[in-house]
Amino acid sequence: MTNNTDVIIIGAGAAGLMAAVSASSSGKKCIVLEKNNIPGKKLLITGKGRCNITNDADIDEIIRNFPGNGKFLYSTLYTFSNRDLLNFFSEYGLKTKTERGGRIFPESDKAQDVVRALMKAVERYKVTMIYNTAVKELIIENGKVIGVKTANDQVYYANSVIIATGGKSYPRTGSTGDGYVLAKQAGHTVIPPEPALVPLYTVETFVKDLMGLSLRNVAVTFYDPDGNKIWSDFGELLFTHFGISGPTVLTGSRMIADYKYKGCKTVIDLKPALDEKKLDARILRDFEKYSNKQYKNALGICCPPK
Ligand SMILES: Cc1cc2nc3c(=O)[nH]c(=O)nc-3n(C[C@H](O)[C@H](O)[C@H](O)COP(=O)(O)OP(=O)(O)OC[C@H]3O[C@@H](n4cnc5c(N)ncnc54)[C@H](O)[C@@H]3O)c2cc1C
Repeated sequence: MTNNTDVIIIGAGAAGLMAAVSASSSGKKCIVLEKNNIPGKKLLITGKGRCNITNDADIDEIIRNFPGNGKFLYSTLYTFSNRDLLNFFSEYGLKTKTERGGRIFPESDKAQDVVRALMKAVERYKVTMIYNTAVKELIIENGKVIGVKTANDQVYYANSVIIATGGKSYPRTGSTGDGYVLAKQAGHTVIPPEPALVPLYTVETFVKDLMGLSLRNVAVTFYDPDGNKIWSDFGELLFTHFGISGPTVLTGSRMIADYKYKGCKTVIDLKPALDEKKLDARILRDFEKYSNKQYKNALGICCPPK
């Protein structure tokens, strides 16, 4: 059996659904092929189920805060900004709220409502959604992609094919890296993907005893195996049963992806606002103040866990 359309979109995640809305709203007939039985499976787990949709910062600030090559985002964000996104969601009934740090979430705190809004848009433009259908290869003729073949040997033809299959993280959501294979098939060069926004394993096992302990206002610095400083940040760090996590570690993790099998040193400065001399004076002052307490109890008062 063959099927013809203007645009085939592979993947019904955030990117695929937005691509479908964009193409169909300009009059193209679209088919979305999704391997799961529902759309937006990964979206549902974002922001711990609340989906941090965007940030209310201006575009320059977003780009400044983007680790790595932020300038890459200029044309994207000036074509469709964070404000455009919020207007889009508002049009489809999604109410939002702004939290600390300018982070924007659905008012309901439910990522499901974000998927629902996207699906409302998709339905408005009569996009054909086909679930339980994994694309296994592109059909290429005379150097042009003209369609796709699915795992159950169905063939779909289109003038354009958009790969929106996501990356490789959380494969149980459907993002198993198929897009890299398909892009390669179309002649693209694929740079080996690296992990980002991930917690880190530590060699030291004592961290297990600290599991759940969250430190605030600490400085976290990563050093390469030769002792060179790679990256540093200030903020929160969390101990887990296997290592370290929390905002500072998640943000910095991409900076040490190259060393993932070699190991890096992490230094946590619990009092980054104090230099060595001031810290020494502060500790001596505190120990004097709590001299009638046991050592470990005095420590608990000086540096209480947050
Ligand atoms: C735990 C976690 C929390 C996150 N929290 C946030 C957050 O709060 N805010 C934020 O902005 N981002 C967050 N992200 C990142 C965000 O989830 C991704 O950036 C986003 O989902 C990417 O969208 P996508 O459409 O490109 O890919 P995906 O959402 O991965 O969608 C790809 C879709 O393609 C389908 N697919 C794959 N291969 C095939 C195939 N061969 N045939 C057919 N279908 C296929 C998949 O099943 C999937 O549905 C989070 C990510 C994780 C893992």
